[in-house]
Amino acid sequence: MQTFQYSRPTTVDQAIQAGARSKTVQQNADVRFAAGGTTLIDLMKLDVEHPDQLVDINALPLARIETAPGGGLVLGALARNSTVAHHPAVQRDYPVLTEALLSGASPQLRNMATTAGNLLQRTRCMYFRDTAHACNKREPGTGCSAIGGHNRTLAILGTSKDCIASNPSDQNVALTALEATIQVQGVRGKRSIPIQEFYLKPGATPNREHVLEPGDLIVSVTLPPPIAGARSHYLKLRDRAAYEFALASAAIVLKVNGGRIEHARVALGGVGTVPWRSHEAERELQGHAANTTTFRRAAEAALKDAQPASENGFKVELAKRCMVRALTVSTQSA
Ligand SMILES: Cc1cc2nc3c(=O)[nH]c(=O)nc-3n(C[C@H](O)[C@H](O)[C@H](O)COP(=O)(O)OP(=O)(O)OC[C@H]3O[C@@H](n4cnc5c(N)ncnc54)[C@H](O)[C@@H]3O)c2cc1C
Ligand code: SF4
Repeated sequence: MQTFQYSRPTTVDQAIQAGARSKTVQQNADVRFAAGGTTLIDLMKLDVEHPDQLVDINALPLARIETAPGGGLVLGALARNSTVAHHPAVQRDYPVLTEALLSGASPQLRNMATTAGNLLQRTRCMYFRDTAHACNKREPGTGCSAIGGHNRTLAILGTSKDCIASNPSDQNVALTALEATIQVQGVRGKRSIPIQEFYLKPGATPNREHVLEPGDLIVSVTLPPPIAGARSHYLKLRDRAAYEFALASAAIVLKVNGGRIEHARVALGGVGTVPWRSHEAERELQGHAANTTTFRRAAEAALKDAQPASENGFKVELAKRCMVRALTVSTQSA
């Protein structure tokens, strides 16, 4: 780990000014915000990330969870994953988010990890985390060791010839199904970014993972008002029951009325290079009978463009079954 300068601003403006000295917010950026540090400090120790300035944002007043003016809920960027998961309004109105957060990492990590840090956590592709191997995401243009290498846990949707890394987050799958909006503040003012427009698929530039610009600070995440009568559920399938990333997961928001699906939002985790919203699945669900035939058809639609690598073909069927099961549970609890 190389030496770095450390600062701890106490206002959002100070933090933005400090962050704005960065030439890039992407991999190897020279200035980095540090929140819980559970991704960033790990990667610094591995020499995958080596900022020369660390801006510790923990003294900023961004940890609150409060009701949004038009309904809905605002999660402060520094709200810890455990605080969000156990917040009464989240448990009552957005149980899919509670389930997703509690399925991730460990209690100790969730006590440190923040809403914004989780949004920007990086892939667990083993080659990305090991500087002895070629990796286009870590060092653009060097090649991808996972294609033709060990790729059992990696993505089958949204991949490119340059990168097949999966987005590892559980939180972000739930936020995608909930259609959350990310509030950002930077040197050029404030922006609201719908989560579906926030992440970038790898394409030819896998080092670019999101649309943030240098100096942009995430200040909060807004959840829209809950849909009356809708139920939600997060199901995560993994190699062991705890302390493990998803091989496949599904976040569902579903409203069923008289046996017909009135509203459906579907997002998948563990299988996409970004948290994977499936409009194809939603089209197969909305207006149709809430039964296994419909669910299976929706799952087929969601995975129709899957492109497995040498070791992760099993994820295609796993993700379909995960989705069908999550939809079934959502219906049963309705
Ligand atoms: C052993 C282990 C197991 C894990 N298991 C899971 C799991 O099963 N599921 C899961 O979803 N996650 C898992 N995680 C990942 C964990 O959830 C993330 O490390 C955590 O959410 C990151 O949050 P943080 O606040 O610690 O981020 P940090 O490490 O502080 O920051 C991460 C990134 O976000 C940037 N950042 C932070 N805050 C802001 C902000 N406000 N504005 C702009 N940029 C910002 C930082 O610069 C950095 O690039 C695991 C982690 C570990 C170490
Ligand atoms: S899949 Fe992506 S992160 Fe993994 S080695 Fe290839 S380029 Fe790097």
